Amino acid sequence: MKALAEFTLSELESAFQSVGLPPFRARQVMAWVWQKGALSYDAMTDLPKDLRGRLAAQYPVLGSRVVESPKSKDATQKYLLELSDGKFVECVLIPAEDGRRTVCLSTQVGCPIACGFCASGLDGLERNLTTAEILDQFLALKGVTDAPITNVVFMGMGEPLLNVENVQRAIERLCAPEGEGGGLSSRRITISTSGIVPGIAKMAQMEGQLRLSVSLHAPRDELRTRLMPINKKYPIPVLMEALQKYQKRTGRLVTFEYILLNDVNDSLSQAADLVDLVSGLACKVNLIPFNPVPETPYRTPPRERCSAFAARLRTGGIVTTLRVRKGADIDAACGQLRLRKSRVLSPKS
Ligand code: SAH
Repeated sequence: MKALAEFTLSELESAFQSVGLPPFRARQVMAWVWQKGALSYDAMTDLPKDLRGRLAAQYPVLGSRVVESPKSKDATQKYLLELSDGKFVECVLIPAEDGRRTVCLSTQVGCPIACGFCASGLDGLERNLTTAEILDQFLALKGVTDAPITNVVFMGMGEPLLNVENVQRAIERLCAPEGEGGGLSSRRITISTSGIVPGIAKMAQMEGQLRLSVSLHAPRDELRTRLMPINKKYPIPVLMEALQKYQKRTGRLVTFEYILLNDVNDSLSQAADLVDLVSGLACKVNLIPFNPVPETPYRTPPRERCSAFAARLRTGGIVTTLRVRKGADIDAACGQLRLRKSRVLSPKS
């Protein structure tokens, strides 16, 4: 058994041919999945019934099983998928008022980065996701929306730049024409990283207009290392140099993500330090009020404090957005849902 996301169109054509099916059947199936968002063969009404049964047994539409899909009050939809080895990953669909429909995908089960505020890294890394497992998340979410998915962000569980090959192959499929892939433009795809410098150098070499987002969260090394131990390996000056090079090579804007943690990184003097740090790059800063994770010591700052921090950045000439919290009622901070599920299933001593 091999799920459909494991095939390109030409691979599926050859697989079908080897069992005596004409290539147009492969095109039909691919179009159902990638264009119309079919999640089962039952939906593929122009395929003979017996063929649908046969294909379902051999080439399941999804290799993963959707086990939980809580709907948030603000229409954010989060899916928990069970992989073929029983592990869990999560992905989110975030519809925006301007018509954009963004999906947030995971790239690893767990995460090795162990940021102090994040649920994904609490139990460490279990393994990388395969390309097909990454694409399954996209297909599962595509199957539940009536409008097209317009954007993809790799901001779910895991560190995409520590699983670069599989992420890159998934992106190629997401950018393939709609009948055989996601039909997206690479400028609609964002990779978010905790600052893996060799990965950033690789991204600078990638084709297309992929967007890079860097989780900064502190303007100085001491605090950043406390929040994100990866900063010991790639400290801020090294990271900034890699970003300068990236920008020189690609000409692309860099986005910084900055979680606001109450009384930790949200003071006006830290905002001023942040202005100094990022002013040399063509960039914008995306401020994210902390989405509470009970296992961590952090708290969300009051809204006025968040707004004052944003205002200080803008005064310093930095393009800044202050994110509205979405999906807080469905554990939409990355890793939270999966953590709840896997801890219930396999309590650690
Ligand atoms: N490992 C990558 C991508 C996954 S995390 C990275 O670090 O960028 C995606 C974003 O969610 C990161 O900016 C991360 O710092 C942020 N994040 C993690 N936990 C969060 C929380 N509890 N509240 C708000 N943002 C969080």
